[in-house]
Amino acid sequence: MTAIDYDLEFLENGRTIELISIGMVCDDGREYYAVNRDMPIRKIRKHRWLMENVVPGLPKGHGDRRNHVPKSWLFDYSDPVVKRRERIGDEVMDFIRAAGPDIELWANYGAYDHVALAQLWGRMIDLPEGVPMFTHDIQQERSRLGLAWDNLPQQEAGEHNALADARHNQAVRRWLAVRAGERR
Ligand SMILES: [Mg+2]
Repeated sequence: MTAIDYDLEFLENGRTIELISIGMVCDDGREYYAVNRDMPIRKIRKHRWLMENVVPGLPKGHGDRRNHVPKSWLFDYSDPVVKRRERIGDEVMDFIRAAGPDIELWANYGAYDHVALAQLWGRMIDLPEGVPMFTHDIQQERSRLGLAWDNLPQQEAGEHNALADARHNQAVRRWLAVRAGERR
């Protein structure tokens, strides 16, 4: 079994879940991070929590580039991680399939993440072959082991950056796996 831990940042309004960014880390050492060029910018601007917590983690102009990135931009569109949603779907599919035939997806409070991930390819029935039909949830494993969230390793930095969150999910999942092993 090869696990892929992932996290999405998204805008949701009770009806739709719209991708902002996605981070994935695989047991085989590969990592993936992308920011959705097609994200609903106007709606995000009006969303205070996203503006305060998620937007600061998106690519910013740095060095010489900083002067070329208009202040009105939420993020640096020319950063190579910024891609069209359709392309992100293709790359995520390739990333998952490259992990082999026996893959587990893992996320933290992952119900919305799973739906937004699956919607990269359209309807439920459009899920590409080789992409698991469900995501394991760190919270379910934590609950099964009778642990409180505060007992688990805490994230040091980068919270709400999708890649930093995915890396932390991997660390927590592995920590839980050790605890589960000790209980046997
Ligand atoms: Mg996150």
